[in-house]
Amino acid sequence: MNIPFLDLTAQYTAIRGEIDDAIAAVIRDTAFIGGPYVKTFEQQFGAYCGTRYAYGVSNGTDAIRVALLAAGVRAGDEVITVPNTFIATAEAITMIGAHVRFVDIEPETATMGPDALAHAITHRTKAVVPVHLHGHVAHMDQIMAVARARGLKVVADAAQAHGASDGGRAVGTLGDAVTFSFYPGKNLGAYGDAGAVVTNDPAIAERVALLRDHGRTKKYEHLIEGFNCRLDGLQAAILTVKLRHLPAWTEQRRRCAALYTELLADAPGLTVPIERPGSCSVYHLYAVRTKHRDALQVHLNAQGIGTGVHYPIPLHRQPAYAYLGLREGSLPVAEQYCRETLSLPIYAELTDEQIRFVAQKMQRALEQLETRVSA
Ligand SMILES: *Cc1c(COP(=O)(O)O)cnc(C)c1O
Repeated sequence: MNIPFLDLTAQYTAIRGEIDDAIAAVIRDTAFIGGPYVKTFEQQFGAYCGTRYAYGVSNGTDAIRVALLAAGVRAGDEVITVPNTFIATAEAITMIGAHVRFVDIEPETATMGPDALAHAITHRTKAVVPVHLHGHVAHMDQIMAVARARGLKVVADAAQAHGASDGGRAVGTLGDAVTFSFYPGKNLGAYGDAGAVVTNDPAIAERVALLRDHGRTKKYEHLIEGFNCRLDGLQAAILTVKLRHLPAWTEQRRRCAALYTELLADAPGLTVPIERPGSCSVYHLYAVRTKHRDALQVHLNAQGIGTGVHYPIPLHRQPAYAYLGLREGSLPVAEQYCRETLSLPIYAELTDEQIRFVAQKMQRALEQLETRVSA
């Protein structure tokens, strides 16, 4: 059986008519930049997130960059985030001249450790960027409490967590500003690059709106200098169609996750992902942990099962961040996580039969690998 890690064609096939009509409408109306399709998407995405303001931007990296600037972060400030994320989270911080500071994660959820955060804060720290890794909401109650007590802004990176919630509160409402990516492989994916910033803070909202569009208040009137990092009409129209299907797709992802968790419960030497009580994950990825990660990945790939590693090298051990001087062992929980994590196929169209096949192959491979270790 061939099971790809991701299958974007299956999704398009299911909604082809709606997508093709939406694309044709934007071209017919020549509504390429700004205009009604962007407005409609922003209104509907804001409603989905439960926030007063939602702004489309060019991608998830720019979403973090613009949100940090709008929250008041300036060159020379320090911003704290985690090392087990896509490099974009850290780039958005350094791109505006701020200093990135990495802190370790909680082993259970692989998200920011609130105690590690509290210990890392200095007089230069201005903001915190927790990452809702793989669709699991970080420990936001504690992170927000630490941030509020120390006067820090919180810009949450929800690039992988559209629709997640914690204690019944939507992920988009947890932080001063929350950023999303609509990279094609994300839970809500465009047909190109796209992103969004959502907030309930009117001052942050106003600055995001200005920054993404040349600081423009009206045609050829510029209140501040900004950027060109707008969402375009075609992507907005596509995203509006897909947003209607997102709740059903999320339910399907949760079905896949629940079945994996049930079937892998007794697999030797394997840790499956958990949801903290009260939190609802949207399983952008289903990532298991095992000492045998590399061998298991080779074995599954040989059986036609696509897998991924998110992420193999923590950012503080990347050549790009060698200047920080953080040695092996400096953030041990994140380092071990990166050595052990393996992402299995998960998407709405994945069938129970395919999941059973993956689980069976994993069970067998792990039994062999564990006996080899104990022999
Ligand atoms: C995808 C992703 C980003 C970047 O989004 P782009 O749209 O590719 O710029 C940032 N952070 C995380 C955690 C991501 O997964």
